[in-house]
Amino acid sequence: MKWISDLFDFILPRRCVVCGEPLSGGERELCLNCLMALPLIDEPRRAEIEKIFWGIVPVERAASYFFYSKGSPYNRLLHSLKYKNRPQVGLMLGRNAAIELSKSGFFDGVELIVPLPLSRKKERSRGYNQCDYIASGVSQITGIPVCKGCVSRTKANETQTHKSREQRWRNVEGIFAVSNPEAIRGKHVLLVDDVLTTGATIADCARALSSAGCRVTVFTLAYSCNDF
Ligand SMILES: [Zn+2]
Repeated sequence: MKWISDLFDFILPRRCVVCGEPLSGGERELCLNCLMALPLIDEPRRAEIEKIFWGIVPVERAASYFFYSKGSPYNRLLHSLKYKNRPQVGLMLGRNAAIELSKSGFFDGVELIVPLPLSRKKERSRGYNQCDYIASGVSQITGIPVCKGCVSRTKANETQTHKSREQRWRNVEGIFAVSNPEAIRGKHVLLVDDVLTTGATIADCARALSSAGCRVTVFTLAYSCNDF
C-alpha cells in the first residue's frame, strides 16, 4: 500500500546509492537524476567489449551496461552491491540493463542465464552472490530462466589485485566446471557477471561452458575503463 511505503520513507528515508539524496516513492536504489546521468555504454563501444574475448574463447555477443572508472560516483553502485549488503541494487540494475539491451535484440536466441559463481567461501561471508541478483533482474524482463547450479568453482583463485595481466590469465585457468553438461549441451547461455575488467575470469567460465557444448553470450553490469 502506497501510504505505508510513504510513511516508512518519512520515518526512515531510503537514500540514493550514488548521491545519498532521499528517494521518492517510485524510485528504487537510485534517484531519477542519477539514473538519467548513468554513463551508459553505446553500441560502438560495445564492439570493443566483444574484442576482449577474440582469439581467447568463442563468444557470440558481449555487452556491459555502464562504464566503471576510477573516481566515478557510480562506482558506489558496485560497492553497495558487493560490500554493503545491498543485493537489490543488482536486481534493479539487471532489470534496467535488460530493458536497454533488449532494444537491440541482444538477448535474442538466449535460452538460459548463468550467473558467474563466487567461491563458496566468499559467498558464505557475503551472504549472497551478487551475480544471482543481476541474473534475476535480467530474467524478470526477458523471461529467460536462470540456472544457478549449472557452473561451479572447482577452486578459489587467490586475490588478483596486484598481478599483471598475463599473470591474471594464468591464474584463473581451469577454475570452473559445468555441473551437469547434458542439461545444457547445445544451449545458448547468457553468462552474467558484475564487472568486466581484464575479462580473464569470465573467459575461463565461458570456456567451461563452451567445452560443454554451449554457445555463450556475455553480459556484465559494468565495464572498467578509464578513457570514456
Ligand atoms: Zn542520486
